[in-house]
Amino acid sequence: MADLTGVSWDKFPLRAAPSDQVSKNFKFYELTASETAERLLIDNRFTRVAEVRAAVHLCRNVLQPIRDKFGRFTPNSVFRCQELERALKKKRSNWTSASQHTLGQACDIEIPGMPTLELADWVAKNLEFDQIICECYDPRKGPNSGWVHVSIVPPGMGENRGKLTSYVLDPRSGKYVYVAGLQTSGTASA
Ligand SMILES: [Zn+2]
Repeated sequence: MADLTGVSWDKFPLRAAPSDQVSKNFKFYELTASETAERLLIDNRFTRVAEVRAAVHLCRNVLQPIRDKFGRFTPNSVFRCQELERALKKKRSNWTSASQHTLGQACDIEIPGMPTLELADWVAKNLEFDQIICECYDPRKGPNSGWVHVSIVPPGMGENRGKLTSYVLDPRSGKYVYVAGLQTSGTASA
């Protein structure tokens, strides 16, 4: 295991060992780990240096501050290659995902026992970010229902908009919809 915590994000190499330390509490493999990729034998390693550098920047500026504040967690997902995106979203091979996960600029997180909306709110108030999406949170299903999607664009790659969005169940259509602001499915009015 190598300690890469001192390597600047914008100098980070494309390849590192899975157990190499990227920040105080996160290892390299956590930036690409995916149960779906494992099960479907999808190679979800970074393919471009811009992706790994964006993910390292996100790790140090989003994941680590959340870990420092709330304790141990494993990100559900950080980088997702196009093939993994197609598998997750059940798309054809000619479809291209515009998700910031494909750029290494987004993560999906949950803190055990912490209401998803509270986590989203803390990130919004304390960290720099491009977009937060409070996804599928329904407190009737327990505090850990849903997850928080956080994206951040590294310096020189564009601006961070500070956009707040929720993906909630619309009671009228019975479908999930994107709405502005941070809210729960229980109070959705979209
Ligand atoms: Zn996400």
